[in-house]
Amino acid sequence: MELDIRNLSKTYPNGVRALHNVTLNIPQGMFGLLGPNGAGKSTLMRTIATLQEPDNGSIMLGDIDVLTQKEDVRKILGYLPQEFGVYPRVTAETLLDHLAVLKGITDRKERKDVVHALLHKTNLYDHRKKNLGGFSGGMKQRFGIAQALLANPQLIIVDEPTAGLDPAERNRFLNLLSDIGENTIVILSTHIVDDVKELCTNMAVINEGEVLLTGTPTEALESIKGKIWRREVSKEELDQFDATHNIISKRRSAGKPVIHVLSDHQPDDSFTAVTPDLEDVYFTELFGKKEAVLN
Ligand code: ADP
Repeated sequence: MELDIRNLSKTYPNGVRALHNVTLNIPQGMFGLLGPNGAGKSTLMRTIATLQEPDNGSIMLGDIDVLTQKEDVRKILGYLPQEFGVYPRVTAETLLDHLAVLKGITDRKERKDVVHALLHKTNLYDHRKKNLGGFSGGMKQRFGIAQALLANPQLIIVDEPTAGLDPAERNRFLNLLSDIGENTIVILSTHIVDDVKELCTNMAVINEGEVLLTGTPTEALESIKGKIWRREVSKEELDQFDATHNIISKRRSAGKPVIHVLSDHQPDDSFTAVTPDLEDVYFTELFGKKEAVLN
C-alpha cells in the first residue's frame, strides 16, 4: 500500500495559504516530512488523518479515497498529534484500555493482552498504574505512540514528536519508532534534521506550503555533492560574505563562526570543500536558491 497525495491545497479563512499544490508519493517504511515551523506540516498531517478538509486535491491510501472514505481510513490509522492532550488524573493503563474500546477491541481478554503488550513495548508497563499527569514529556510521547499503535495501524502519523524532549528521551522515542514494521507507512513530521537522518528511508522538505524536495536522503546528499564550501569568518566579514556569496548556514565550530556556502565551484582558496550532511541539504532547499550571487 502507498499513500498518494496529489495537488493538495489549503488556504485558511484568514488568508494563510498553508498548502499549495502538494504532490507526494509515500511508500511503506519511515517517511520524514521536514520543514520549519509554519511550513504546513500539521495542516498536511491533519488532512491525511481525516480531521480537516483541503480546498483541492486528492489523497489515496491504496484503494481508499481518504477524503471521502474517512471511516475506512480511521480503522487503519494511528495518529499522534502535535498537541497530544491526556487526562491527567487517569492512569496510563485505564486510558489505553478506554482508547482500545474506541478502536473497536471489545473483547476484554484480547484488550488486556493488547494494552499490556503496548505498555511493555513503550517501556511504560512499570508506570501503568500512575496518573498521566505525572508523566514526563518523553513518557507522554511514548504513551502517545502506544495509543497510535492500537489495532495494528497500516498508516501511522506522528507530528513533531521529538520537540521538547531531552536527548535521552528523544533517543528512546526514535528507537521505538524504528521498531515499527517495515510494512507500515510511517510519516514523521519534524523540523529536526537529525530525526530524519537517523530514521527515514524517504523524505520530503516543505516550506510555505510547497514541496521543495523529495527522495531518499542519499539522493538528496548526492544532489549537492561537491557544492558545499566552508570557511571560518569574523563577525565583521559576515555581512560582506552575505552580500557576495550564497550562504546556506552560519554555524559555530569551537566558538568560531563558520559559514557554509553553496557554489558549483570553489569560491576562492580560503574556502574548503565539505562532505555535505542532511542539514546542508535542508538549508540549501530553504536558503540556497538565491539568484544573482556573485561567486
Ligand atoms: P507547521 O506544522 O509546519 O508548523 P502548520 O500547518 O501548523 O505548519 O501551519 C501552516 C500555516 O498555516 C502557518 O502560517 C499557520 O499559522 C497557519 N495555520 C495553521 N492552522 C491555522 C488555522 N486553523 N487557521 C488559520 N491559520 C492557520
